[in-house]
Amino acid sequence: MKLLTRRAFGLLILTLLLVAGVLIFTVNYAINADSWAQHATNKHLYTDGQLKTAGKLYDRNGEILLQTVDGIQKYNVDKTVRSALLHAVGDSYGNIVTSAQVAYSDKLSGWDPLNGAYRFNNNLSSFNSDMTLTLDGELCAAAYQAMKGRKGTVGIYNYKTGALLCMVSMPTFDPENRPDVEAKPDQYEGVYMNRLFSAAYTPGSVFKLVTAAAAMDHLENIHTRVYQCEGERIINGAKVTCPKSHGNVTLEQALAESCNIAFAEISLELGGKTLQNYAEKAGFNASIKIDGIRTLEGKVNVSEAEGGDLAWAGIGQYSNTANPLTLMTYVGSIANDGIRVTPRLIRETNLLSLLPGDRLRKKRVLSEETAETLGIMMRNNVKESYGEHNFKGLELCAKSGTAEVGGDEKPHSWFVGYLNREDCPLAFVVVIENGGSGSKVAGSVAGKVLQIAVQRVAEE
Ligand SMILES: [Zn+2]
Repeated sequence: MKLLTRRAFGLLILTLLLVAGVLIFTVNYAINADSWAQHATNKHLYTDGQLKTAGKLYDRNGEILLQTVDGIQKYNVDKTVRSALLHAVGDSYGNIVTSAQVAYSDKLSGWDPLNGAYRFNNNLSSFNSDMTLTLDGELCAAAYQAMKGRKGTVGIYNYKTGALLCMVSMPTFDPENRPDVEAKPDQYEGVYMNRLFSAAYTPGSVFKLVTAAAAMDHLENIHTRVYQCEGERIINGAKVTCPKSHGNVTLEQALAESCNIAFAEISLELGGKTLQNYAEKAGFNASIKIDGIRTLEGKVNVSEAEGGDLAWAGIGQYSNTANPLTLMTYVGSIANDGIRVTPRLIRETNLLSLLPGDRLRKKRVLSEETAETLGIMMRNNVKESYGEHNFKGLELCAKSGTAEVGGDEKPHSWFVGYLNREDCPLAFVVVIENGGSGSKVAGSVAGKVLQIAVQRVAEE
């Protein structure tokens, strides 16, 4: 009897160990299977650390961006398209972490936790692992050319559907002829970073779109008020300046002429907490998830700011930083009656690898009325300040920014906005690092690329 009890007890221990082992494996599998399969030493999927048996990657028009031919990766046939899409597609060594080759490696290699490497399973071979991005390769190439080698980024997306049509980050290189980037650290500074997703710059005057929205919602009779600008004002010992004396300006004129003194006064009246609240509504201090890829968050921390600090914060200087894509989606929400549609990068993928719960996502950012009035003011900016003749037929609504970066360096050049066209609902951002004047430098890149975008959308 004693022996039997001991044996039963032993068996119980063994059973428990087995169950525990299966549990540990299952949990581990659920958590890690993806990275095990995607590990660069997996000879089924990789050779010398490069993804060798991936599905094809297409742009929105069916142009091949990446394919594997006889075990060798081939990018698009056009060098300009290859260079323009480096950050979207990725290089062959996985250096660009937000690229499709890295972020969607499981989809491209045809792997999921239920079916394993289904590209190698004959029963599942009808599920190919090709992917189509929302990007337009030709449009990206046009943006790359318009940047003329300057560092920065261009982004264009459809503010109703979220489809990201153009995404270019500079500097870049041709992935089929990788240069020695380490030998030229200045030329290739931050070359593996997609500046649209992962950079944060001082926003400068484009931030006035945030301050203006707060002013419209919180300050009485804001549209009939007049601010006086003598070109310079001392606020609690801090000097706020304008490039010239703007004289008497309304809110609308202050936005069109980008009057710092009017916006300093508005910021002080609003207070740090209200400004903080509107910055967060606009998407600051939060990252956006674009089909599984996270953007870097821009930072605004003005809740406790006072005097000169608060004044400069409302003008977009102080310690504010902005991610270009965040500002693009903010102006997209102004265009879309105050509702922000999260950008998307994947147009089509096979059934097995559909990304769950990550499709059309909407969020109200501004009231419909505030968005509409702000839009009218942005349209006025173009007519009064940036020149309608530079943006013929675009029905452009925009705001420029010339963001001081300190020292002897030229300011960063920003231009953000959207087309107020039902047939072409596009919002955009252009940043040129140390480019100088926002409306002249970034504005001229935006003008060129948007004209091509309109043609491309009309052809579709
Ligand atoms: Zn002024």
